[in-house]
Amino acid sequence: MHTLNETHNPQLRSWVDSANDAGTDFPIQNLPFGVFRRYSSTESFRVGVAIGDQILDLTTAQSKSVFTGDADLAAQACCASSLNAFMAMGAPAWSALRLALSRALRDGYALHSALSTCLVPQADAEFAVPAQIGDYTDFYTSVHHATNIGKLLRPDNPLLPNYKWIPIGYHGRSSSIGISGQSVHRPVSQVMRPGATEPVLAPSARMDFELEMGIFVGPCNALGEPVSIQQAEQHVFGMCLFNDWSARDVQGWEYQPLGPFLAKNFASTVSPWIVTMEALAPYRQAWTRAEGDPQPLPYLDSAELREQGAVNIELEVFLQTAAMRERGMAEHRLSHSNFRDAYWSVSQMVAHHTVNGCNLQPGDLLGSGTQSGPTEGEAGSLMELSMGGKQALNLPSGETRTFLEDGDTVVFRGACNAPGAARIGFGEVRGTLLPARSLA
Ligand code: MN
Repeated sequence: MHTLNETHNPQLRSWVDSANDAGTDFPIQNLPFGVFRRYSSTESFRVGVAIGDQILDLTTAQSKSVFTGDADLAAQACCASSLNAFMAMGAPAWSALRLALSRALRDGYALHSALSTCLVPQADAEFAVPAQIGDYTDFYTSVHHATNIGKLLRPDNPLLPNYKWIPIGYHGRSSSIGISGQSVHRPVSQVMRPGATEPVLAPSARMDFELEMGIFVGPCNALGEPVSIQQAEQHVFGMCLFNDWSARDVQGWEYQPLGPFLAKNFASTVSPWIVTMEALAPYRQAWTRAEGDPQPLPYLDSAELREQGAVNIELEVFLQTAAMRERGMAEHRLSHSNFRDAYWSVSQMVAHHTVNGCNLQPGDLLGSGTQSGPTEGEAGSLMELSMGGKQALNLPSGETRTFLEDGDTVVFRGACNAPGAARIGFGEVRGTLLPARSLA
């Protein structure tokens, strides 16, 4: 895992003024990577780094000869329309470029006038999914979510006995992963309505979001070669916000015996910026397992995990209905939770995923599963917040919600705070639900 270095120094200031604003998600201590182009242009998508309210275009920055050595090799890998080549290089290359960017964006940098021509305002940009995602796996790492959902689906048997031994996951679908700002049609599929004896083909009536973290894989492991928990984070590039849109009525009818299928594979949305594991170093916390629970098997346990396996990421969910938007009303916060409460860590996800020899590849995406916390109000889905649709939520517009209505916009935000560290943020992931396409 990463130790603190000069790039984390909370005193650092940037010559990009907006990076020094107290509320910015992207101070010089963050330096997340994404893929962008000027809004509505025909330019190629290209790799950039967020700094304040700007984006440093790495393709033009690399051409200014401001990087040298390993940092320049890494910057060359970023002269591309996706982050896969850079992700494949591994932590030494990521770290070399981060250090060079930190020094080049600092107050007083000698060549800052050359680099200032490489800035594009974020307000003028549109984003793409930052990597070509070959495979996507969704985990289920919040025991609070698993218990809440289990109670609704199987009141007599909420948490299955394997949960506390195995980081549960399923293989999802990468083709339908989109970028923040996307609109998603309400999916149509088979549902069994309450009290019915036969299913019907219909638009989902129980549309939901799932508040998740996305975890992007870096260097691959060869097929047949497990990644040990000690090595696991060497294979992780960084994290983003992730909305795993879910159709609960479809899920309830289809999920046994093989798990999620059409309830989940119609759309998932990532935030534009990937915050690197190195940037997250100041916010690491001890990973703990309650004494009464099974302790992890040795391949899922390590001294480093116990010392700093968890990551303190404050997460928030906001909703804005179409009526709220028309009336100019701000998004309303529905809930909040923290990724540090996950039952399984990032390193345990990677170690378990590969223990059988499964090969991860650069750009693969792991979903953390819905992050619900231990207390009321810390629920990462409407299924939980509305008690399975039984208890409507009141909105400041006077409207109520059990599940999502057409026109609703869902926004997640995430931020990290720690004593003696700068505040860094993840930006946001935003998506809007559209009506179902008409049935043929
Ligand atoms: Mn999910």
